[in-house]
Amino acid sequence: MPHDSLKALIRTIPDFPKPGIQFRDVTTLMNNAAGFATAINALADRYQKLAIEQVAGIESRGFVFGAALAVALGCGFTPIRKPGKLPGATIGRDYQLEYGSDRLEMHVDAIRADARVLLVDDLIATGGTAEAAAHLITQAGGRVVECAFVIDLLALGGRERLQAAGFNSFALCAFDGH
Ligand code: AMP
Repeated sequence: MPHDSLKALIRTIPDFPKPGIQFRDVTTLMNNAAGFATAINALADRYQKLAIEQVAGIESRGFVFGAALAVALGCGFTPIRKPGKLPGATIGRDYQLEYGSDRLEMHVDAIRADARVLLVDDLIATGGTAEAAAHLITQAGGRVVECAFVIDLLALGGRERLQAAGFNSFALCAFDGH
């Protein structure tokens, strides 16, 4: 399947989870064997060349793409989770949402010192979630080689925000609106 037909497999659900949000539903891509394989293979092609040593994925759709990519790259997988889910000693980071705040956590011993880490999530919107996760990886002693997404919502400027914070990023496809 050509790489640029991935976008057609992503379903858009208007007004979810609240009015005005166009929810980009990547489960329809995951549900399509050829589409899911195309997405993972395209990411694996890019990152095989970048000597990735560990993949970290953000709960929960980042687990799906991140874990499959970790296997393709021959790396271990580190989950970055919502608060209170991880059983061992954790480090955490709070970040701002449009209304209120949220928090991500990871195991303090999950990343080997100086490991070259790839951060994965399904989608980047404002970039707040990925920026918090990237800082956690750095705090744990890893080096964030790049942050990879299936979808970029261009109008929300998330990748520029990551760049300003010192993190490179890449997305397989993009939507113009938000
Ligand atoms: P942000 O922190 O603003 O970049 O938001 C990114 C996170 O929220 C990702 O984990 C996405 O899965 C989710 N997300 C934000 N906006 C959308 C959207 N329009 N459609 C689907 N998921 C979204």
